[in-house]
Amino acid sequence: MHRLALLMAAVLALFASVGCRIVENEFPATWRRHMRPKVGDGKGTILLSFDDRNFNGWKAAIPIFDKYRAHATFFVCGPINKDAMSAMKVMLAKGHSVGLHGLGHRNADKAVADMGAEMYWKEEIEPQLNICRMIGVPISSFAYPNNRRTDETDALFFSKGFAHLRGSTGLVPYDPKGLKQADRRPLSECDGAFFPASEIASHRLLRTNMVGADYHTDANDLVRCIERAHERDEVLALTSHDIAESPSGIGMSVALLELVLSKADELGMAVVGYDELPRD
Ligand SMILES: [Zn+2]
Repeated sequence: MHRLALLMAAVLALFASVGCRIVENEFPATWRRHMRPKVGDGKGTILLSFDDRNFNGWKAAIPIFDKYRAHATFFVCGPINKDAMSAMKVMLAKGHSVGLHGLGHRNADKAVADMGAEMYWKEEIEPQLNICRMIGVPISSFAYPNNRRTDETDALFFSKGFAHLRGSTGLVPYDPKGLKQADRRPLSECDGAFFPASEIASHRLLRTNMVGADYHTDANDLVRCIERAHERDEVLALTSHDIAESPSGIGMSVALLELVLSKADELGMAVVGYDELPRD
């Protein structure tokens, strides 16, 4: 009886300490990991992806992704050597998705036109794909280098079993000198930068918006984009390269990543890798 009274007192004390108001942030980290927002929750979805071979920056950002229970997709170009294998496995183990970005970072539209689909596949895709298969790294997505693609290249990848391709919305071109800014509107006002989350399974070509100084990313606009995607239950796809304190023009700063992830977390939005997307 004495023990029961103590137990009840402990339970009462616990409820009093949280004011009977259990908020998500007070759950232990292991519980919170199982409570990640999902696509289809109705609160909007963010698809983050990072390209090329910025392995150190990506691995260093893992604690930030962990903190907000967010996953991204990392698209690797070049040879799948020891460094690439190691980075791909580390990111996969943390729940992220990894995809291919071409052995030679070739523009797919031109390469297929010049070499033919068969030779393009053999020289540009197979060398990466075969090693990933050999080492047990699942690959089902490809990001077009420089966002260059055609319907023919899409059909080629889909015929080879790829689930998702990443192209561009075309709304934020690489423009380090600021020569293409005359007609720019805030991204949050451009319907083409978003699509309804209810249609996500049918979007096998995912059109992304590039992020970085050379794409003239405005942090306030990006926050408004996230709020819009949340309010309308839309998908917002964002792509950058490195993640660093002071990145190059095509990279994303650690501060901006933290801003995006914290805003999405605050709004209960799903931030998922391509391999987590529902498929038709
Ligand atoms: Zn690239």
